[in-house]
Amino acid sequence: MQLDKLWQFMQVDMEADRFEAKIRQSEKRQKLLKQRNFILDQQNNMKKLEGEVAAMADRLEAVRDESERLQKQLSALTEEMEKNPPQSAEEADAQMAPVQKLMETLSRYEQELSKMRKDAELRDRQQRDIRVSAARTKAEYDALKGDYDVEFKRDTAELKKMRARTDAEAAKLDANLIERYRAIKQHCTPPMAKLVNGQCSGCFMSLPSATLLKLKDGNELILCDNCGRIIYCEE
Ligand SMILES: [Zn+2]
Repeated sequence: MQLDKLWQFMQVDMEADRFEAKIRQSEKRQKLLKQRNFILDQQNNMKKLEGEVAAMADRLEAVRDESERLQKQLSALTEEMEKNPPQSAEEADAQMAPVQKLMETLSRYEQELSKMRKDAELRDRQQRDIRVSAARTKAEYDALKGDYDVEFKRDTAELKKMRARTDAEAAKLDANLIERYRAIKQHCTPPMAKLVNGQCSGCFMSLPSATLLKLKDGNELILCDNCGRIIYCEE
């Protein structure tokens, strides 16, 4: 049995795992991810606004054209009235009715146009704000990315060294044992647990006395019935 060696191997193996987790959880990395998401969000907001602005520009043009057309109609009507002034109150009413209607429509259009101008200003402001904050975040991102790349390069080189060391240690151990270790590690880590007061120190389950006897013999690999870890008994 090479459990002492396997236990020592586990220490370096776990150290390498912890280091790898630390790289992944790096504060800089988390911040960069956040900034990248923010920039992507802003790009989406910008696209949405651009779509709205384009739709508004179309509507603005249509209303303006229609308004111009009605304006011309109105001028024609008033010109006509000046040329042929109404002869009676009834005639005056009859001539005024379409004029009144045109003026009402035109005033509605005018209101819509002024609302659209205000909306356009608001969207301009929103676009400006988005551009400013996205540019600021991008600058921060670029600066941090530079730092992070240096850190990441250094850390991954270090991790590679650690992994090379664990591989070298693993090569010294029985291949079957290492295979068992790795298989257990897939679902339970760390994959070994010390026996403390007759309990598995991984899950605190008491081991049956038959198992404890087998463990004393030291002839076979003993796994915890409950968590599946390799039970290690220090001599
Ligand atoms: Zn256990």
